Amino acid sequence: AGDLEAALDLIRDVPDFPEPGVLFRDLTPVLSDAKALGALVYGVAAACPAADVVAGIEARGFLLAAPVAYGCGVGMVPVRKAGKLPAVAAKVSYALEYGTAELEIAVGAIQPGQRVAVIDDVLATGGTAAAACELVEQAGGVVAGVVVVLEIAALNGRAELEGYQVTALRTV
Ligand code: IMP
Repeated sequence: AGDLEAALDLIRDVPDFPEPGVLFRDLTPVLSDAKALGALVYGVAAACPAADVVAGIEARGFLLAAPVAYGCGVGMVPVRKAGKLPAVAAKVSYALEYGTAELEIAVGAIQPGQRVAVIDDVLATGGTAAAACELVEQAGGVVAGVVVVLEIAALNGRAELEGYQVTALRTV
């Protein structure tokens, strides 16, 4: 646990990115440190609910979902931004600050009734994670829970995820 806290301490706060007034939480210093990467992957895996498959949200969720799935001995499914997949099983639109975005999941990625753990790096307003959960359900899966590394409490993302088990390794 001490190792995990030390790993999370490496998260870097970058002011005014991607636009003025926004404080961006940058996890890349955690990923590039061998000990911290191990502690982070282990920490996410330990927080993961029992699941048949781990879904990672593009793009930073991929970086965690694949090693976590491998460590848990299950498969990994990418939740992708629109237009990247050759065969789309389900699509969900969600609101952004300006405009909308879409997430897609591939044909055959989730079997009917499979329990899916949804993973991402940061939970902010919750719109992305909520869309990913809806997508998993549309594709026939059951959301076992959502795991994020960092939750930004002030943005109240949990409110978007009512009814789902949400676990954050750190809340700021
Ligand atoms: P939300 O939909 O507002 O909860 O935003 C969450 C999505 O945006 C996740 O996929 C994150 O990767 C990304 N995101 C939002 N804020 C940050 C941040 O400060 N650092 C890194 N990613 C972020």
